[in-house]
Amino acid sequence: MTNPYDLIVVGSGFFGATVAERCARELKIRVLVVEQREHIGGNAWSYTDPDTDIEVHRYGSHLFHCTSADVWAYVNRFSGFSNYRHRVISRHQNSFYTLPMNLGTLSLLYNRFLSPDEARELIAQEAKAAGITHPTNFEEKAISLVGQRMYDALIRGYTQKQWQTDPRELPAEIISRLPVRYDFNDAYFTDRYQGLPLIGYGKLLESMLATPGIETRTHTDYFELQTTLPKGIPTIYTGPIDRYFSYRAGELTWRTLDFERELVDTRDFQGTSVVNYPDLDVNFTRIHEFRHLHPERDYASHRSVIFREYARFATRKDAPYYPIDTRTDKSTYQAYRALAAQEPYVLFGGRLGTYRYLDMHQAIGAALKLYDNTLAPHFTEGRPFKSNSLEATDP
Ligand code: FAD
Ligand code: UDP
Repeated sequence: MTNPYDLIVVGSGFFGATVAERCARELKIRVLVVEQREHIGGNAWSYTDPDTDIEVHRYGSHLFHCTSADVWAYVNRFSGFSNYRHRVISRHQNSFYTLPMNLGTLSLLYNRFLSPDEARELIAQEAKAAGITHPTNFEEKAISLVGQRMYDALIRGYTQKQWQTDPRELPAEIISRLPVRYDFNDAYFTDRYQGLPLIGYGKLLESMLATPGIETRTHTDYFELQTTLPKGIPTIYTGPIDRYFSYRAGELTWRTLDFERELVDTRDFQGTSVVNYPDLDVNFTRIHEFRHLHPERDYASHRSVIFREYARFATRKDAPYYPIDTRTDKSTYQAYRALAAQEPYVLFGGRLGTYRYLDMHQAIGAALKLYDNTLAPHFTEGRPFKSNSLEATDP
């Protein structure tokens, strides 16, 4: 059988779409993109809500931010970007607090104005009172960063719901994703480049895959198609790495999310795009209101669409969202990495293929690197289809 394709890309999220677009456009090769879901785009997919015409992010609000001029220039080829700046509100009991935690959040919580020095001093005292000198888990690290009072109000319950694990059992690194500011800056991200695609994520991803030379098949599980394809076609696999190897070294653990949609009979339900709910007597973690992601669009609908977000452990049937990355997971993943390095014609990439949380810009950056270092040299100079284990796909 002659090869109908030069490259197969499994998964049409930002990693797969970037690889496919680069190879088809620059190398003029024939690329087959295989996607098991009914839509392309992975978890960044968005669509127009039929009742309101509001763009909905199917898997929760996706905020684009990066410091890399190359990644920014790349995404801007497909769409202009708005100047949206993300801010989050946390609703604890009957008050609203600003996230990331800043001087405003602290002053409100302690019910008095705090200068930057006073706030630092207060938090250092609380960490000392809790007896924490060398934080070893999430709870200790969080208290040393934000103090006991803030931890109890905005962190403990949210984390418990989000991870369904006692925060003392979680790794300290997770809290480092949430900045603490000793000023009044309430911007969630400080990256130089930020914004949302003016045409929407769904259309942006469609435009990437509309590049001549790419054939995309949705509703298609790679493992069912595989047996019908000739052997030896170079393949980029962005699905779960444990599934590729039929779970032979064990299962990696993930958290998944459920989203509950509600059409509300008001133009504005909560006044902002994301409100977090840290209290344990509320069983969801956040509410997304998508209208607020695009103030420049001035949506006409008199109704609004919201998603309540619930977190839980993923089973094999669920979409894997966040790697839990326990000690056992780390060693299981190493076993799969060793197997992956021996797999001829297949390179593993993206969030699921490398078992790590990747933001969109990191997935795109890693895919561009894979293209430059491995794919272009392979297809133009005949260099081996090998990336020295998985390093080439690291963001
Ligand atoms: P994915 O987007 O997961 O794409 C992988 C694709 O492979 C999926 O479509 C899947 O169906 C397909 N696939 C898997 N197995 C098979 C198979 N056997 N056959 C065929 N297809 C298969 N990033 C940000 O930058 N900002 C944010 O605000 C942000 N928010 C997020 C919120 C949530 C809840 C989540 C989960 C992620 C968020 N991200 C965010 C990250 C972003 O969604 C993507 O995960 C990231 O762009 C990585 O893309 P990817 O291509 O590696 O993976
Ligand atoms: N977090 C919290 N309260 C919040 C927001 C975040 O306790 O209101 C903690 C929580 O443990 C979370 C971590 O900070 O997992 C990182 O926050 P981020 O929003 O990056 O993570 P995500 O919610 O996407 O896991």
